[in-house]
Amino acid sequence: MPRPISATLSLSALTQNLNIIRGFAPDSKVWTVVKANGYGHGISRIWRSLSSTDGFALLDFNEAILLREAGWQGPILLLEGFFTAEDLDIVGKYHLTTAVHSDWQIKTLAEAQISQPVDVYLKVNSGMNRLGFPPARTGAVWQQLRELKQVGELTLMSHFATADSVEGVDAQMAAINLAGQHISGPRCLANSAATLWHPQTHHDWIRPGIIIYGASPSGEWKDIAHTGLQPVMTLKSELIAVQELKAGDRVGYGGRYHASGPQRVGVVACGYADGYPRHAPTGTPVWVDGVRTTTVGTVSMDMLAVDLTLCPQAKIGSPVELWGNYLPVDDVATACGTLGYELLSALSPRVPVSVT
Ligand code: PLP
Repeated sequence: MPRPISATLSLSALTQNLNIIRGFAPDSKVWTVVKANGYGHGISRIWRSLSSTDGFALLDFNEAILLREAGWQGPILLLEGFFTAEDLDIVGKYHLTTAVHSDWQIKTLAEAQISQPVDVYLKVNSGMNRLGFPPARTGAVWQQLRELKQVGELTLMSHFATADSVEGVDAQMAAINLAGQHISGPRCLANSAATLWHPQTHHDWIRPGIIIYGASPSGEWKDIAHTGLQPVMTLKSELIAVQELKAGDRVGYGGRYHASGPQRVGVVACGYADGYPRHAPTGTPVWVDGVRTTTVGTVSMDMLAVDLTLCPQAKIGSPVELWGNYLPVDDVATACGTLGYELLSALSPRVPVSVT
């Protein structure tokens, strides 16, 4: 018998989420972001359910090749662009669109012998200070690219750091407007948070990631609960043991949890080697047999423990949901001081995945 842990993916939720996202930005085309193997969902499992998208955006060449070989013929955008001169052969062969954020990439493009011009997303550093040209240089760089025979269609691109917070996008939008004041061409700016909450960023293309998978860019499920976006991944397991504790008994490695009185504790077949965060503190929400309860003690490699005080009926074999339909991944992530992004994309390859 395999361990009773599995993930299920709702393909109808994916398709519905994409439709809902289009409703937020009806005049924009959509790059569906599937980097990190589709935020942990598995590109090969999900892309067909998203094939009404205008394009897929990702980072890794092997993921781009996988998509092409699986049959996707539409646009593919490399969000960080290419890394070496040799990469340009793959860009050409697989007809990829590439971000350009550094002078060395422009030099490499200018020296490349390529038969077909490459579509380029010129990345402006509008304040995140990760990748991109300074706004004051962007007009000149655009012109430089415009003059290269190796470059096809040009689009202006930037990425927001705080679109989910009170700081919003204003300062970065001002920098982008400065960068683009003498540029006429398409723009692509909005991530999930900007798609939902800053319509002034939508322009020609949006690039939503996390909301495709039904989790919140702010980390708070309540911020998207009313939108109709649905969780795509449900991570499930079962109780594989039940322990009856008395006052003072401890649970798990380090003995960090002490029972203060008689207590039933369930042991779940899910641990950090499955992708569950090891740093989840006692009190992290878990759904057990219809009841929202919490973890107790330290998460082990293959197991974690849960309080059964609120579910006296629970026994070996009772169903457990770590996140998904009954328990938003955002709630689990919040308890662990992280975001749904990290939990979803860390799902371990050892967890069997099925689609519904
Ligand atoms: N665009 C770029 C350049 C990104 O790096 C990311 C993800 O971090 C996205 C878009 C999608 O972001 P989100 O998942 O917040 O929508």
